[in-house]
Amino acid sequence: MPNDYLIGTGIYDVTGPAAELGMMGMASIEQKTEGIHSRLFARAFIVCHQSSNKRVVILSADIWSCTLTLKMEVVKRLKSLYGPDIYTIDNVLLSGTHTHSAPGGYSHYALYNLSILGFDKQNFECVVNGMVQAIKRAHENLAPGKIFINSGNVEDCGNNRSPIAYEQNPADEKAKYSGNTDKEMILIKFIKDNAKEIGCVNWYAIHPTNRGNKNKLITGDNKGYASYLFEKEKGANIHEKETFISAFANSNCGDISGNVKYGIPDLTHDFIRMQEFGEKQFKKARELYSSASIQLNGSIDYRHTHVDFSKVKIEGTDNRTFPAALGASMFAGSTEDSKSEFGLIEGIKATITGDYPAGQKNIILEAINLLSGLLTGFKVPGILEDEMKNGHKPKPIILAQGLAEPYPLSPEILPLQIIRIGNLVLLGTPFELTTMAGRRLRETILNILKSSGIDSVALATYANAYAGYITTKEEYDIQHYEGASTHFGPYTLMALQQEFGKLAMAIKDGKTVSAGPTPRDLSSEQTNLQTSVVTDTQPMPWIPFGGTQTDVNSFYKAGTTVKVIFWGAHPKNNLRTQGTFLEVQRKEGDKWITIFNDNDPCTIYEWKRDFIANSKITITWNIPTDTKAGEYRICHFGDSRDISDKIKPYTGISNTFKIGESLAINEINFKNSFGKQVELWFYHPNDWLRWSAYSKHDLKKDEQFSWKVPSGWGKVQVRFTGPGKWKTISVGESINIKASGDIENIT
Ligand SMILES: [Zn+2]
Repeated sequence: MPNDYLIGTGIYDVTGPAAELGMMGMASIEQKTEGIHSRLFARAFIVCHQSSNKRVVILSADIWSCTLTLKMEVVKRLKSLYGPDIYTIDNVLLSGTHTHSAPGGYSHYALYNLSILGFDKQNFECVVNGMVQAIKRAHENLAPGKIFINSGNVEDCGNNRSPIAYEQNPADEKAKYSGNTDKEMILIKFIKDNAKEIGCVNWYAIHPTNRGNKNKLITGDNKGYASYLFEKEKGANIHEKETFISAFANSNCGDISGNVKYGIPDLTHDFIRMQEFGEKQFKKARELYSSASIQLNGSIDYRHTHVDFSKVKIEGTDNRTFPAALGASMFAGSTEDSKSEFGLIEGIKATITGDYPAGQKNIILEAINLLSGLLTGFKVPGILEDEMKNGHKPKPIILAQGLAEPYPLSPEILPLQIIRIGNLVLLGTPFELTTMAGRRLRETILNILKSSGIDSVALATYANAYAGYITTKEEYDIQHYEGASTHFGPYTLMALQQEFGKLAMAIKDGKTVSAGPTPRDLSSEQTNLQTSVVTDTQPMPWIPFGGTQTDVNSFYKAGTTVKVIFWGAHPKNNLRTQGTFLEVQRKEGDKWITIFNDNDPCTIYEWKRDFIANSKITITWNIPTDTKAGEYRICHFGDSRDISDKIKPYTGISNTFKIGESLAINEINFKNSFGKQVELWFYHPNDWLRWSAYSKHDLKKDEQFSWKVPSGWGKVQVRFTGPGKWKTISVGESINIKASGDIENIT
C-alpha cells in the first residue's frame, strides 16, 4: 500500500488564570479558580494527503467547549502565519473536552459569560495562543507516517443521567442497542515512518464532571487525568518540539455522567472518582493503541458550513426550528451532577397554552427576575408570541435568549463540519448530543457515505462553537434537563441530521457547499466585571514575596502529606504558561533535581486572598508511597505587581526535609461470602487527596484476601461496590461480607 500521509502532532499549555476567574460549565458564580491541580493542554493532530495536498487539523483542548470567537481568532492567526489557504475554517476542527473545572470567559455571547462576569481577555489570549502553538508544532513536525484505527467498549464508565427521557425513544430503536449509553471508544494512532510514536486521539462519551461545582482547582477532570497517565507512561515532555501526545476528546455525552453511580460530587470523593473514570478511559485507550492494526488509507476531504438554527425548515414537513430558548428544567440543573441554584426539579412541562405550570410559576418567575438582573443592557421579551411558545412546546420557556436585543444571548448561526480521513469520517458539532441523538446522527451519515467506503463515523462534540444540548424529539417531549437545554425546539435534531446530510452528500458527490450566513462579530461589545489585580502587597514590609508563613516539618514518611504556605502574589500577573508555580525537588549529590511540578496530580497549588492585596499560596505534596528516602524541598515561583505596575518574578523555597523508609506493613483481611464478585476501594479516611493511598481490589466470589495497609495509616475507608456500603476499618481487622451484603467483623 503506498504511504501517502504526512502526519504531525503538537501540544501546548492553555492553563488560564488560576485565581478569581469563573469556571465554565456548572454556571455557578461562586465557582472561581483558586489554584491548580493539573494544567490544561491543547493537543493538535495534522494529517496531509500528499498527492492531493489536502490537509486537516484535529485539535482537542482541556476546556469546556470551543466557541465561535476562539475558532475565528485561531484561524485568523494561522492565516497570518501560513497564508490564506493552508489552514481555514473549513479544515481546522477545534474541540473542547468539556471539563467543568477550567476557567471561562472566552465566548462573545452573554449567556456563556454570565457566571464568569464577562469576557476575559487574558484567558481568551491564553487559550488562543495555546491552540495556535499546538498547531504550529504539529505543522513543523509534519513527516511521512501511518494512521491506524481501532475501537472497543469501555465498561462501567458512565451512566445515563436522564434514563426516563431515554426510555421515551421507540422500542424498536432501543432494541438495536445494548443499553442507554454508548460504550464505544474510537481511537486513531499516529506512527511516523521512522517508527516514532507521536500520539493518539480518541472519542468517548462521558461528562468530565467528577470534580463538582465546589471544586476551585483547575483540572482537566477525568479526560485530562487519562491524558496525563498515557503521556506520563510514554515519557512525554511538553518542552520538546515533538513528543508523544494523547487526546481524550468527547462524543455524544449529553446525558452521560460518572456521577450517577455515586451521587452529586461532594468535594471529598471527587478526586478518587476522577481517578476511577480517568483510569478506565486510559486503560482502554492504551489497549486499543497497542493492538491497533487497521490502517487508514485513502483521500482526505472536508466540508464546512454555517447554518442559522433559529429557522431551519424540515424539508417535506411543516416543522421548523425556532429562535433559541431555555426551558424551566434547565434551571433545575442536571440533578445528577449539580444541584439547582433555584430549587427547581427536572421534568417541568408547559401547560397546553405553553405557559408555566401553576405549582411552579412563582419559583420560575423568581429565576427569571434573577437572570434579567444579571443581564443588564439586554432586552429579553417577557411576553412571547404564540408562535414562539407553540414552536417550543412542551418546553415552558424561561428565557427566550434568541430574541434578546440588541442581539441574541447565545449564537444561532452555527458551524457544522465534516472531515474524512480515508474510511473514517469525523463530525464536528457545536452541540452536546444525548446518546440516542448521537446514534441517529451517526446512522444518517453512515447511510449516506457507506457506499463511498466509509465504515467509521466519530462524533466530535463541543467543536468550533457551543449552543446547548440536542435530544431526540421523544426525549425533548419529557423535558428533562437536556431537553430543556435544547435551544431550538423539538425539531433541532432533525434539522441537524438534515443539514449534516447535505455536507455528507457533497462529500459523496464531490461537490462544494455554500459557506452559509456569516456569524456576527461581537468583539467590540465585550464588558467585564471581574476583579483584577491592582497591586500585590507584602503582609509586612520585612516579609519578602516568597517568604514562608508556615514551613515544612523536618521529617515525613512516604504516603503522608507535606504542606507549606508562602506569602506570594496573584497568579494573574503571569500565567507561567508552559511553566509551573511549584517544584518538588530532591537532592542528588550537591544538585537539586525537580521531580514534580504543578501539573502532577500529587501536587496542589492553592491561592487565597489575605486582607486586601496579600496572596497566601499553599503548596501540598502527597508523597507517593514509592518515593525514595532522601532530602527534599518545595519551591514556589510567582510574580508580583508593584504600584507602578511593574511585574517582578520571585522565588520561595521551603526548608529542606527528609523522607524516611516506610515502617512495618500491617494488613486487613477480607472474606467474600456475598455470592458474587465485589469491588473493594481503599483510601485514607481523613485525607482523600493522598493519591498514593487509593487502590482497588476485585474480591472474587468466596475469595479471602489480605490488603497491606500503607504505613502510618491506622484506619482505612473501604467502599464495597456490590453491597454498596462504606466502612471505616482499622488495621488488623478481619471483615466478612455476608450473603445478605452486610459487613461483619470476624474475630
Ligand atoms: Zn455538558
